[in-house]
Amino acid sequence: MTARLIDGNAIAAEIRAEVKAGAERLRRERRVTPGLATVLVGENAASALYVSMKRKACAECGIASFPHELRADATQSDVLGLVRRLGADPKVHGILVQLPLPSPIDERAVLDAVPLSKDVDGFHPLNIGALAMKGREPDFVPCTPHGVLELLRRTKTPIEGAHAVVLGRSNIVGMPAALLLVQANATVTVCHSRTRDLPAVVRQADILVAAIGKPAFVKADWVKPGATVIDVGVNAVPDATKKSGKRTVGDVDYEAVRQVAGAITPVPGGVGPMTIAMLLTNTLRAAQRSRAST
Ligand code: NAP
Repeated sequence: MTARLIDGNAIAAEIRAEVKAGAERLRRERRVTPGLATVLVGENAASALYVSMKRKACAECGIASFPHELRADATQSDVLGLVRRLGADPKVHGILVQLPLPSPIDERAVLDAVPLSKDVDGFHPLNIGALAMKGREPDFVPCTPHGVLELLRRTKTPIEGAHAVVLGRSNIVGMPAALLLVQANATVTVCHSRTRDLPAVVRQADILVAAIGKPAFVKADWVKPGATVIDVGVNAVPDATKKSGKRTVGDVDYEAVRQVAGAITPVPGGVGPMTIAMLLTNTLRAAQRSRAST
């Protein structure tokens, strides 16, 4: 059996088209143009690339972007001051602080300064807390795990009653992905670096979400035949055939696992484009909920 490919590029394009239509409607009906401010501190090349991809995606969907770049030697109060100014700017509906922030800037203090109504990354503790509570709905759901759920929903993968295993328990991916799967009525097991006999636990998964940051870590004989495998990992490995000398692989041993799984996301082209699509969705939502017109 060869797994069905879950095409993140195609599904993300569908979502971007929905966002574009929603942004046009908002402009027509309320004269509001959704706006996303990006905050980039220092010269991390990967962070700069992510921010430029997000800005390009905004432009394609009719979302205004307001880029802010601070030097690596910016102080805590420079970054906090900028985030607070953006918090008060009515043209800015969403604020994205690109992580990681260079030390010694206190990431927690900066994220806490993003007003809840503009927390389009969904990282504010109140948003994560609401995800964990029955009967509560967060204003914004973190983009990568939200993208994982959208991939499952839009491919009509049965979630209710399924056993979902999430590899990784980070604040930005593993834990919110697990909470979203619980909300969707899956039975969820969260694994981490202290999990005993990981292959045996993973083998129980009808849905496997791998988010640990270790190249090709999940092997074919860990995967239940027919399982749906969502690979969040983004890892650079050496590849002499590439001009750059490296290529990107996920946390799953893709070629081997796709012989066993029922459906699988590729890396790249799986979860990655969904993260950006969900950021656009969150920014549109923030603008729709705002009162002021611009
Ligand atoms: P992270 O903060 O480093 O968390 C990694 C998690 O994996 C931790 O919970 C850790 O356990 C667990 N882990 C590490 N080694 C393990 C092992 N040998 N066995 C079992 N569990 C292990 O990483 P993250 O930010 O969640 O990111 C995970 C991956 O997703 C990375 O490759 C990252 O680049 C990628 N990512 C992709 C996107 C996207 O848009 N596609 C977005 C975000 C992240 P402990 O808690 O016990 O340490």
